[in-house]
Amino acid sequence: MPELPEVETTLRGIEPHILNLPIERISIRESKLRWKVPKKDLKENLLDNYFSSIKRRAKYLILNSKKGSLLIHLGMSGSLRILFEEVKPQKHDHIDIVFKNNCLLRFTDPRKFGSFLWAKDPEVHPLLKDLGPEPLGNSFSGAKVLAGVGNIYASEALFLAGIRPKKRACNISRKQYDLLAFSIKELLQNSIDKGGTTLKDFVGSDNKPGYFKNELMVYGRAGKACKKCSSHLKEIRLSQRSSVYCPKCQA
Ligand SMILES: [Zn+2]
Repeated sequence: MPELPEVETTLRGIEPHILNLPIERISIRESKLRWKVPKKDLKENLLDNYFSSIKRRAKYLILNSKKGSLLIHLGMSGSLRILFEEVKPQKHDHIDIVFKNNCLLRFTDPRKFGSFLWAKDPEVHPLLKDLGPEPLGNSFSGAKVLAGVGNIYASEALFLAGIRPKKRACNISRKQYDLLAFSIKELLQNSIDKGGTTLKDFVGSDNKPGYFKNELMVYGRAGKACKKCSSHLKEIRLSQRSSVYCPKCQA
């Protein structure tokens, strides 16, 4: 699943290629994504318009124009790519935004859990207005909720902060919370920095975006030895997600 750093890397990968370019055509081959793609809104508002900036909020990409914003969420398996010429779409290539210079932004999503939505004002859009603070923003600290941090980062950050995944929020000290917040910021920033070396993957017809290959301490390592103390890492399920932890390093 694309996690926050992949979304940030996607933003940085596509941004230099599409800003301020007039939009000539939008091809929507599949509109049944997580929510129905609003074909009419997209065409009415985006044709002959252009994107003036791209922002990220949690795992949403917000492509702003003078008439409103396109909200993109990559869902479980979505990706965006820039193509410099029209390449015949494959089965899961659902949406193309074609610019006047023939460059195109292609959305691919095998599992169709992604979203392509229109928002007149993204600040008050129901999907965005109640999100928690940005983990990389200054207002983020341990006492607040995380906005869309993925499973991998949650597991890794809990390990770094020495907190067991099942520990009740009320039993976590303010100091531990702050350490957790700090760990999450470090992990995300580190992954984003590493993503910076794979920006070329967003360009071209056959490359898939390069997801981060961070050195994971616990995620995906159940049963293996803890890299810090050599204890066997354990796995538990928390609300249908698996979480791996070290019984010795995490209390
Ligand atoms: Zn350990």
